[in-house]
Formats: sequence, C-alpha cells, structure tokens
Amino acid sequence: MKKLLGKLVLLGAISLGLTACSSGVSSDENETIKVTTTIAQIADIVENVGGDKVEVESLMGPGIDPHLYKASQGDLKKLNEADIIFYNGLKLEGRMGEILSKMKDKKATVPVAESVPTDKLLIAEGETDKKDPHVWFDISLWVYAVEEVKETLIKEDKANADLYEKNAEAYIKKLEELDTYAKEQLATIPEESRVLVTAHDAFQYFGKAYGMEVTGLQGLSTDAEFGLSDVRSIVDLLVERNIKAVFVESSISEDSINAVVQGAESKDHTVVIGGELYSDAMGAAGTETGTYLGMFRHNIDTIVKALK
Ligand code: ZN
Repeated sequence: MKKLLGKLVLLGAISLGLTACSSGVSSDENETIKVTTTIAQIADIVENVGGDKVEVESLMGPGIDPHLYKASQGDLKKLNEADIIFYNGLKLEGRMGEILSKMKDKKATVPVAESVPTDKLLIAEGETDKKDPHVWFDISLWVYAVEEVKETLIKEDKANADLYEKNAEAYIKKLEELDTYAKEQLATIPEESRVLVTAHDAFQYFGKAYGMEVTGLQGLSTDAEFGLSDVRSIVDLLVERNIKAVFVESSISEDSINAVVQGAESKDHTVVIGGELYSDAMGAAGTETGTYLGMFRHNIDTIVKALK
C-alpha cells in the first residue's frame, strides 16, 4: 500500500512536471523561426516574407562566389541550428551539394530555384541538360522562389499564415514594379548596343527577359579557366558590333575582363569598363545594393548609363 501511494505521488509529480513543460511550449509563439540561406538574394525574400517572425542569416556575403564556396565549420553550425534552410539549387552551390542533401534528412531544406517550372529554365550554351541556376535575374521567375519561401514558412508556422500571405503579396508587388522599371529603362538603349559582356554567364535569364544579347567570358560556373580563344572571340564581337563597354562582376576577379579591354585596345577599339554589376552576390548588408531590389536597380542603371 505504501509502495502504491509512493507511485501515485510520483505520477502526480510527473504530470505536474508535464503541465509545467507544456505551458513552456506555448510561449513558443513568441519565438522566431531560425532560417539559414546560402545566397543573400534568398535571405532577402525570407526577411521580407517572414518579417519579425523569422531570424535569417545567409552564409555567403558580399563578393562571395557561390560556385566555388565551401562550407566552414561555422556554417555547419548555422545549418545545424536552423529550423529551415533555403538554398538556390540547380547546382549553383556546387561544392555544398553533399552537405545540403544530408540536411534534407534532418529538416526542411528547400532549393527555391527548383520551384521554377522546368520549361522556363534555360540550358547552358553548348550543353544538353545543364540547367542555368541564375534564375533571380528574371524577376517573373524569382516570384516562384518567393512563393516557395512563403509556402514553406506557412507549413512550419500555420498560426502566422495570414501574415506571410500579406507580406509575400506586398513583396511581389515591389518586384513587379521593378520588372516594369527594368523593361522601360533597358528599352532606352539603342537596339544595336544592347549587348552585355560580363565575366561569366550569369545573365542569360536577364538577357532573355529584358531583350539583351548576353556574352560571358566563362561559362555558367566559374570553376573553369577562361582561355585565350574566349578572349579573342569576345574582342572580335566588340569590334564588329562597336560595343563601347564591358562589365565586371562584384564576386569575380577583374582579370578576365581586363584581358578583353586590352585585347580590344590592341585592335584600336576602345572599350571601357562600364561599371560593376552584382551577379551572384549582392552588396553589403545595410546598404542599398545589399537588398535584392537595390542591387537589381543598380545593375539596370549601370548598364543603361554605360551603353546608352
Ligand atoms: Zn554564377
């Protein structure tokens, strides 16, 4: 009898403990969802859609090349501690593939660019099935990524579904305004001068969406060296079409583009560097170009100013 009583007391204590615990859980409503992203373009979506319900950090800061990026120990910690991981996918984060696929077993790990319908994806020039990962440069496609982030946040946190819907709608409206601005501005460049020469092939989607011919010195990824024949063929194009400017990218060494400028000079054709474009990385956090909208607008204004 005494033993039974003891057991009852113990059970009572456990249930009390459980009650205390569950009341602790209910305060979770005030806790934020921890999100880790690879590139900052995606963190920008999460910040805008998640608002103060999320705490987001991107692993790749300004000037970082995602094609070559390897995760550090600190990054692994951030990936492990996150409630949700968003990355671009389509092999943009070439050297993080294994880590990201391991994370998929543990938590929501979502490749946002892979939500773009396959028939809207571009194939790399000269390739048969290698998809171009740089989808953020066609705003109408980047909207799919925004929807994907929204759906994932709602799945994880149904209580705030209305807020995420409202925030996503407001963000998409701004993206659509930017899309209109891009089309209007780029249309002011004379048609024959609408040629964008950059260090690597990040701007295929941009070219298709906004009516520009695009040539990169390196292919879709930056992990291959550019060759002299690549420089020569671009120099020929510049001379032939009388193109005045080429562009450097914030996340890629200027050497390749400088080789093109010098090559043109040796053929008595003067080409200037039209400015720095943000391709795979954005500007510093807290500055205008540290936001998706700001960096996109910077690119448009830089291109128009140099080629008009
Ligand atoms: Zn790239």
